[in-house]
Amino acid sequence: MSAFSSAEPVGSDDELDELRGFRRRLHGEPEVGLHLPLTQRSILDSLTDLDLDITLGASLTSITAVLRGTAPRARAVDSVCSGDPVVLLRADMDGLPISEDSGLPYAAANGAMHACGHDLHIAGLVGAAKKLVARRNEIPGTVVFMFQPGEEGQGGGRMMIEEGVLDAGGSRPEAAYAIHVDSRLDFGQFTTRPGPLMAGVSGLRVRIQGTGGHAAAPDRAIDPVPVAAECILAVQSFVARRMAPHDPAVVSIGKIASDAAAGNILARYVDFEANMRHFSDTVFTLIRDELPQLIRGIAHAHGCDAVLDFVPSYPAVVNDGREVEHVMRTIRGVYGEESCTMMPEPAMTSEDFAYVLEQVPGAFVFLGARPDDLDEQEASPMHSATVRFDDRVLERQAVILTELALTRLQGSPSRVRPSTETKRKGYS
Ligand SMILES: [Zn+2]
Repeated sequence: MSAFSSAEPVGSDDELDELRGFRRRLHGEPEVGLHLPLTQRSILDSLTDLDLDITLGASLTSITAVLRGTAPRARAVDSVCSGDPVVLLRADMDGLPISEDSGLPYAAANGAMHACGHDLHIAGLVGAAKKLVARRNEIPGTVVFMFQPGEEGQGGGRMMIEEGVLDAGGSRPEAAYAIHVDSRLDFGQFTTRPGPLMAGVSGLRVRIQGTGGHAAAPDRAIDPVPVAAECILAVQSFVARRMAPHDPAVVSIGKIASDAAAGNILARYVDFEANMRHFSDTVFTLIRDELPQLIRGIAHAHGCDAVLDFVPSYPAVVNDGREVEHVMRTIRGVYGEESCTMMPEPAMTSEDFAYVLEQVPGAFVFLGARPDDLDEQEASPMHSATVRFDDRVLERQAVILTELALTRLQGSPSRVRPSTETKRKGYS
């Protein structure tokens, strides 16, 4: 759809080459989880000489970098935020436990992989930091750069909030933005939507406990296998019959195992694990409260015990309507009307930027990074061992993050907060 034109207002080829080199070094040494010392060191090296106030995480290897602009503050400070106006920009830092099979010359060989493009997010945010520092005298406020480990399920975003990232600029951010690359979307194409963008996620671990026995004598045992099968089918009926058709929900059972080692043994127990996605509080409450009751009831009816462990994970990502307008206006102003489209419907994937957006109005935006030599069908999805990204897209990440922060601080009309109308409609 959108070709990468050489006439874009992006800075020099040298800047892009430097960011691509940096990204490829990160790509070659991915780390997983909350403790990413090599990645943290690489980012700190890249920020050297930028005159930023830097704080490192205590319980995770995060980096919070604060840039104080020197432009005169042209407007009264927002009545809700006391102090300097602040905008927050975020990149996640972690890879996945996947052995890379991309065939790239700079592929990782350590059993981990930046298969979700977080290496691009880091480099794009570093690029924005450099651009914004160079334009410090145009910034009438403060920019907070949030480099976050542990996005892939460990809740690093929530931990950074607990450690104070939302207060790092001296007052609460007025707005927060993050860009996520997409390996299948057309190169250079942005897309987002107001309101619910990505689903909330939670997990349920279940053990159906029977007695075990001889496969030839089921009458002398309590066999948990058919009971587990009944529970799993009932879960699907529960989604279809108890949840409103207009309120999306997904419950998938990704894993099941019994303790029996052979087909002629009746298992003592069966474990299965469900992964569940929601947008509304109503669906979340059904998943949390009623689904376990259903499973327990079926197990007890057959003489089994059921042990359940409900694990809430990330809330839904809900974009602020006005911030999405700002994002779309900014992107279209730089790259043209066609460069940013409205997503017709939310994605059922999840993201822990949700924690930031629960407290700060903002927007999460997708950016296509599909390599030229692949069409949409050929391109591997994210979290695949063969996924590839075209890292020329770093230019757009750095430019748009820069423009979002700059224009938001320069031009934001005073506004009544919170403007997250969507939250009042019951999205969680
Ligand atoms: Zn990701």
